[in-house]
Amino acid sequence: MPFVLALDQGTTSSRAIVFDERGAPRGIAQRALHQIYPQPGWVEHDPMEIWETQLACAREALINAALSAEDIAAIGITNQRETTVLWERSTGTPVHNAIVWQDRRSTPWCTMQRERGLASAVKSKTGLVLDPYFSASKIVWLLDNVPGLRARAEAGEIAFGTIDSWLIWQLTGGVHVTDPSNASRTLLFNIHRGEWAPELAATFGIPEALLGKIAPSSGIFGHTREQWLGKSIPIGGVAGDQQAALFGQGCYAAGQVKNTYGTGCFMLMNTGAQAIDSAHGLLTTSTASCGPGIEYALEGSVFSAGSVVQWLRDELRVIDSAAQVEQLAASVADTGGVTLVPAFTGLGSPYWDSEARAAVLGITRGTNRAHLARAALESIALQSTELLLAMQADSGLQLRELYVDGGATANNLLMQLQADLLGVPLIRPEVQETTAQGAADLAALAVGLWEDRAALRRARQSEAHATVFEPAAKKDWAEHKLASWRAAVKRVLGPG
Ligand code: ADP
Repeated sequence: MPFVLALDQGTTSSRAIVFDERGAPRGIAQRALHQIYPQPGWVEHDPMEIWETQLACAREALINAALSAEDIAAIGITNQRETTVLWERSTGTPVHNAIVWQDRRSTPWCTMQRERGLASAVKSKTGLVLDPYFSASKIVWLLDNVPGLRARAEAGEIAFGTIDSWLIWQLTGGVHVTDPSNASRTLLFNIHRGEWAPELAATFGIPEALLGKIAPSSGIFGHTREQWLGKSIPIGGVAGDQQAALFGQGCYAAGQVKNTYGTGCFMLMNTGAQAIDSAHGLLTTSTASCGPGIEYALEGSVFSAGSVVQWLRDELRVIDSAAQVEQLAASVADTGGVTLVPAFTGLGSPYWDSEARAAVLGITRGTNRAHLARAALESIALQSTELLLAMQADSGLQLRELYVDGGATANNLLMQLQADLLGVPLIRPEVQETTAQGAADLAALAVGLWEDRAALRRARQSEAHATVFEPAAKKDWAEHKLASWRAAVKRVLGPG
């Protein structure tokens, strides 16, 4: 039986998972990654540590699955997005630490580009906003701050890559390639044409010689060197983490949506062949592609989701563990009129207010910690509801069900509240490794383990042991909740 090895290079750890053909994990390995904070607001990773931990995990996952490279039909890669590495083409040596997506050092450059009036051209070509998250601003910082680098980049001596590219280069010994889902997070990719945007690179002063090829997310990217795993294995799938999760959830069709409930929430709606320009502050991005054509998604995020539960646990100390929040919140029938707006770091889509700060509204003499716990869970579901309403308004597509994953989906009450607020069923898969699963599925398709996505979906559905949360509340309950949430948000928005 053929197996697929998924490499899942995340922000806090490198992981590897061997999947069997039913999609069940057979062996897992994980190594933590050091976070480097040179200054407040700066975050770096050591690219060699990323590569070495990832390789070690790949070897360990095989051992844990009691398999060898002979048993692996293909490798799929999924990764933290936007994080930027520049390396020497001749030696594969990084010229600097990786600048991580969270790093804010390029804020002044982004402001400058906005002042040059570039925001709308950038948005219409790339689907993104001029924000330090995205790779281009990090590349410029490196070119401006590593001595001699710009000249070397112009001479074609240097390669740029997001983490997928970096790992592929190391695994293959010099293949320089990425996929549309990763390229679409760089600010250098024309999402409509499905290729790099050389005029944007020129405007930003980024030498084109830095860029590699772009290939469909499912296809042969290259073959690993025999020395790494004992046998050369084809790399058949590549996708950024959120797009990999969308694929791993089987959301191949327009209108399908997944939401990941972690520290924050990441919601992606597949919009098919249509790139939709959001009027509600959502990003337009490429999904993981199976052919030469580009497919699209709308993406939105909630900044504070599971972190609200951490706040209750670590700062307010009303619970001892994250899991306890469910029992406490379930001990009351409602929040007793309390609304918690967790704008700890401002509010994202559809408000985009960086000055907003958190508040608890509607406290009375009878309010207790159970009400607060319930309001915290509702705040996660309400913020996700707002994202979904924005996506529906932008796309004209109606949600039929929501696919969910992430640590906080262990909370059944949260899931039920979410289904009640949206009025559609929530589907929580049995295997929560949807990100790695997506990368593995892309690779399996590339080497013909499945004929196409439809065959893969049929096989998965026959195996599925998903939990479904059906909406049970009355529609006017949801409307009332949303109205009081919006009234509360109004009261915490910044003066602008
Ligand atoms: P990340 O990938 O962002 O680190 P995870 O998917 O591991 O996040 O999920 C961890 C988050 O989920 C934490 O913020 C934690 O507070 C929250 N969480 C974990 N278990 C529960 C639970 N039972 N109820 C609500 N939130 C939870």
